[in-house]
Parts: sequence; C-alpha cells; structure tokens
Amino acid sequence: MNDKILILGGGIAGLTAAIALHRKNIDFTVYEAVPEIKAIGSGISLAGNAMKVLEQLQVAEQVKVRGQLITSMIIQDEKGNFISALDTRKFTHKYGMYNVAIHRGALHEVLLGEIPPDRIKTGKKAISFSEKENTVVLRFDDGTEAEGAAVIVADGIHSAIRKQLLPDSTPRYAGYTCWRGIVESTWGIEDQAVETWGTTGRIGYVPIGDNKVYWFACKNAPYQNEHMKRLSREALRKNFEGFAQPVPQIIEQTPEENIIWNDIVDLKPISRFAFNRILLIGDAAHATTPNLGQGACLGIEDAAVVADVLEQQSNPVKAFQIFEHTRLKRVQFIVNTSQRLGKVAQVQHPLLAKMRNALFRLLPDALNERQLKQVLNIAS
Ligand SMILES: Cc1cc2nc3c(=O)[nH]c(=O)nc-3n(C[C@H](O)[C@H](O)[C@H](O)COP(=O)(O)OP(=O)(O)OC[C@H]3O[C@@H](n4cnc5c(N)ncnc54)[C@H](O)[C@@H]3O)c2cc1C
Repeated sequence: MNDKILILGGGIAGLTAAIALHRKNIDFTVYEAVPEIKAIGSGISLAGNAMKVLEQLQVAEQVKVRGQLITSMIIQDEKGNFISALDTRKFTHKYGMYNVAIHRGALHEVLLGEIPPDRIKTGKKAISFSEKENTVVLRFDDGTEAEGAAVIVADGIHSAIRKQLLPDSTPRYAGYTCWRGIVESTWGIEDQAVETWGTTGRIGYVPIGDNKVYWFACKNAPYQNEHMKRLSREALRKNFEGFAQPVPQIIEQTPEENIIWNDIVDLKPISRFAFNRILLIGDAAHATTPNLGQGACLGIEDAAVVADVLEQQSNPVKAFQIFEHTRLKRVQFIVNTSQRLGKVAQVQHPLLAKMRNALFRLLPDALNERQLKQVLNIAS
C-alpha cells in the first residue's frame, strides 16, 4: 500500500507541513520547483499564533535566536504622532503568545534544517495531477512523475494544481504596490514594529535581529504600473521625505539591489480546500494581503492542522474534509479583515486620512485587544 504523502512546494507552508508530518512519523516527500530552496531577501513577522505552532514543532527557540522578539506594535502618522499602539507583552503574560520578526532566509534555513535532505526533491515543477483509485499522481515538467496516497498542495498563490482544480480562481490586485528592503542598522529601534500612515503612502519597519531592519512601503497605483516598477530608491526616498525619521534614512541607506518590488495581490476566498486526495494549504488555498501580517502564519497553522488530521484519520480523503471544515471560516476571516484594513490604511486623501487617524485614536485599547485576539485565534 502506498501511504506516502506528497507535499508540493518548499515555501513556509510546505516546509512546516513537512516538519509537522515528520514529527508524527508520517511518510512524506517534498517536491519543489526551483533547483535550490532559498527565500527572497526580505523580512517577515511571525505572530503569536504561528510561534505557538513552531513551539509545538520544537523550532521556536531557533527562530527566536535567529530573529527579534517584538513587544509593541505602533501605528503613527507621517509626522510621527501616535495613532494606535499595542503592547503585546500582555498577550505573552496572559496567553504565552509572542511575536518574532526574522529574515526570511534565516526562517527558511531553520525550517530546512529540521527536514531530512533525502525527503526533499528540488527541480520538480508540477504541471498537473491525475487520480487513480487509491493514489494521486503528480506530473513534473521534466517528464517524471510521483505517486502517493495524497498530495498537500503548497505551491503558492499561482498554484498550478489549484488552476487545474479551480480554473476561475485567480489572484486579485489590492490596488496598491509595494517595495520591501533590508538595511543594516536599527536606529535604536529594539523591539517595536512601527507603521506610518501618510498621504503619499504607508511604510512599516521592524528590527529582525543581527542589527538589521526590514521595511515595506506601499503606494496606491494601477496594476503593474511601469513607473512604479522602475521607481529608483532616490525617487522612493523623495516620496517619503516628509515622513518622521528614521523613514527617509531607512530608504536612503538600503542598498538599491536589496529592494524588491511587487504589486499586492490576494486570492478571493474559495469555498473548498479539500478535493478528494488533494488538499490546498498556505497561499495556494488562501493568499491574503499582508496588512495583518498573517499570510505565512496561516500557512504555519495549516501545517499543524493537516498533520493532526492525518494522524487521527488514516483515510486522507476524510482527513482533508475535516481540515477544510476546521480551517475555512478562520482563513476567510483573516483574508477579508486584512483586505478591509488595507483599504483603510491606504487612504491617501489628506482630509479622509485626518478623519481616519482621529477615529483610530479614539478606539479603546480593549477593542484593539479584542481584534488582536481574533487574529491570533485566541478563544474568548
Ligand atoms: C509584502 C508582503 C509582506 C508579507 N509579510 C508577511 C508577514 O509579515 N507575516 C506573514 O505571516 N506573512 C506575510 N506575508 C505573506 C507570506 O509571505 C506568504 O503568505 C507566505 O510566504 C506563503 O507561503 P507558502 O509556502 O504558502 O507559498 P510560497 O511562499 O509562495 O511558496 C510556494 C513554493 O512552491 C514552489 N512552487 C511554485 N509552483 C510550483 C510548482 N508548480 N511545482 C513545485 N513547486 C512549486 C515555489 O517555488 C515556492 O517555493 C507577506 C507577503 C507580502 C507580499
């Protein structure tokens, strides 16, 4: 009998799923398109819900050592005036939850280090699948095939397998474009994630350990705009020059080759993740805009849930149905909330921005904390 689970994609969701299956002695192989697995040069925030899973998988300590513990999240206007602030230490004391920001490359190294190398096959780009009575066959662009009892599809927002299952499900543009960078130096920012909402755009920065700061900047723009694509670092700095320091310095001191540009897209929520012996997880299932910093966190949650259901239920078809039932509502909540937050945060009209900031300043801490509890999946 073929019990092997095929995992498609060696991103954060696929690698975490591999670790979760490995911990439960479930047989698996990861198939990844690129010849060498490595992350793009940017940072990532892992919120308490993801860190909790990584703790269960015994990798949280390494992530903490390689990254930076973040204890407050601040939103301010372009002059540096407070809009809202959350001290996440309350969540650490009450629920044992903490946030870590880390270089994506370091996170990938930690995850890869937990998976036996012979369980990962690189240079395997899946182009299609077919089902047999009790197995699934993946076909790769090099002409080879792999057969297993089931497939966990974690090949990202442009998933080839999702396209075969749901041809109408395509990424949708959020209306804003994004630059990301990493810069050496921290400007004394030790454990804060700061987001600045301005009338020429929005910029966030967070230390990621190793004396480095990760930043992202978003501006409203048409989809795949050539001007935005070609914007130089100097032009980007100029766009944010009226912002409180260290914003202009952060951009100025980032080596131009360390700046990555892409439009922000997500996936309109789909109503199914389980397709018989095939399960979509991570961005392949529910890519979200980055406004809540939850995309990868959800993929990490998925990984733990899929390992649990496969341990409890030997029939993958039933296990995947349980997964779908457990996950649909939660991920839809995050995708929709994140999309709405993005619209609010990207308001660039001066008067509307002023009104928004005033309104946010009035929000009671208790409300912000309640919302964060929902995002972190903490039961009331
Ligand atoms: C600007 C920005 C900031 C973000 N910030 C955060 C944050 O702070 N916190 C957070 O939690 N999330 C954040 N996210 C979201 C996060 O990056 C994604 O949710 C996460 O990386 C998705 O992981 P994944 O493994 O599902 O997919 P991916 O990272 O896309 O990985 C898919 C993998 O599958 C491989 N692959 C693709 N096609 C095939 C194929 N046909 N065959 C085989 N392999 C294939 C790819 O090479 C890749 O390795 C952010 C996203 C953006 C755009």
